[in-house]
Amino acid sequence: MEKIDVVIVGGGLAGLSCAYNLAGEELTVLVLERGDFSGSKNVTGGRIYLGPIRRFMPNLWEEAPFERHVTKEALTLMAENSSTTFQLSSQRMNQRPYPSYTILRSTFDRWFADKVMEKGVCVIPEKRVDGLIMDDGRVAGVVTGEEEIAAEVVVAADGVLSFLAEKAGLRKPFEPQHFAVGFKEVIQLSREKIEDRFGLRGDEGMAYLFIGSLTKGMMGGGFLYTNLESISLGMVIGIDAINKMEPREEVYRLLDEFKESPEIKKLIEGGSLSEYSAHMITEGGMDVMPKLYSNGILIVGDAAGFGLNMLITVRGMEYAIASGVMAAEAIKKAKIKGDFSARSLAYYEDLLRNSFLLKELDTFRHTLSILKNPRWFNHYPQAICDLYEKLMWIDENPKPKLSSTAYRDLRKNILNLQGIKDILSLRRI
Ligand SMILES: Cc1cc2nc3c(=O)[nH]c(=O)nc-3n(C[C@H](O)[C@H](O)[C@H](O)COP(=O)(O)OP(=O)(O)OC[C@H]3O[C@@H](n4cnc5c(N)ncnc54)[C@H](O)[C@@H]3O)c2cc1C
Repeated sequence: MEKIDVVIVGGGLAGLSCAYNLAGEELTVLVLERGDFSGSKNVTGGRIYLGPIRRFMPNLWEEAPFERHVTKEALTLMAENSSTTFQLSSQRMNQRPYPSYTILRSTFDRWFADKVMEKGVCVIPEKRVDGLIMDDGRVAGVVTGEEEIAAEVVVAADGVLSFLAEKAGLRKPFEPQHFAVGFKEVIQLSREKIEDRFGLRGDEGMAYLFIGSLTKGMMGGGFLYTNLESISLGMVIGIDAINKMEPREEVYRLLDEFKESPEIKKLIEGGSLSEYSAHMITEGGMDVMPKLYSNGILIVGDAAGFGLNMLITVRGMEYAIASGVMAAEAIKKAKIKGDFSARSLAYYEDLLRNSFLLKELDTFRHTLSILKNPRWFNHYPQAICDLYEKLMWIDENPKPKLSSTAYRDLRKNILNLQGIKDILSLRRI
């Protein structure tokens, strides 16, 4: 069997970034993607931050098919019959180089795969990897259908449920408490309507998050991102919370209810559904990070659990790209040494530890345990909306002092013993 240097399993952001950075070196590289094309099976919210990754592939970003650059942020707390929105319009975010963009993966990944191929790496679609070739305890290639492909090193870029990492003994079988599930719709809407409804000009965009009654007390929330001529709308809910839900409900229906809420209905009115997807999200963070390498194998992106729910934003794409690039660096070094053993590939983890990626996952390692508190999703959004409504309410009775209304409500609903404990728990993130 002829041996190639690198087989990358998965043509998503992590796999393609690795391939892009290996291209042009003295290495034979192959990307195997099970989808019809790169991007066909990839789901994100999504918004990508370029700040942490711009330097990795500086020539790539200017011509990349991003949707809108984000200049507006909003967070809505949803209660039973009301909602409160915090909104930021930022001139700083509207200056080049733009810090973040909305993105549609079916467009972006397809384009990225073309770029990788232009650099001479073969990206083969409709090629599902079914297993690993093991040789004397080391990974020695992959099995795809009837075919075996021998390789010096395999890069597992096969996404959130990476069975390759599991097969190589690097990660434990699926544990629901470390994952969430996302449902997403892409709704076509004209450019003019989007700009009008969201108060945007040109290619300015908005990132909009929602927490509260929409998830019925379950850990999670909603998102809306404006694209050039569509809106990405969805929800993410922790699987553990779904399993504990009483009474059980078909969670995908929550997205329909969310779309019917007055907050969303008017924003998507007249739009037509063009895409529906559901996908898992990794949320376990640093505490459940798998072993990242072994003899003849490296794991990158979602496969390695590199995702972060930071409460106010979801991250994963920059981590996928950065880890792909760092895996490529480690592979290049291993090639020079002619050594693809675990000891040699350990350089990958050194690179990650010295980068923003593992530093951020470490900083936010307690996020998940804080998010498990259902009061963030039911009690506090309701309490804040109720208080705001009371402050604004004027009827036939003489209006009491604003300060006494606020004091009474805050004492009762937020600044009590439980509330103080909850607020103090936020110090850990
Ligand atoms: C609903 C939702 C919202 C999100 N929002 C955001 C956001 O706003 N911002 C952000 O940064 N992140 C977000 N994320 C996370 C982000 O999308 C992921 O972190 C990112 O896509 C990971 O990229 P990846 O390349 O590691 O994995 P993927 O993009 O999943 O790519 C894995 C690839 O491997 C292929 N594959 C799998 N198994 C095989 C096999 N056996 N053989 C061959 N190919 C295989 C798949 O087809 C796929 O193309 C969100 C995720 C979801 C689900």
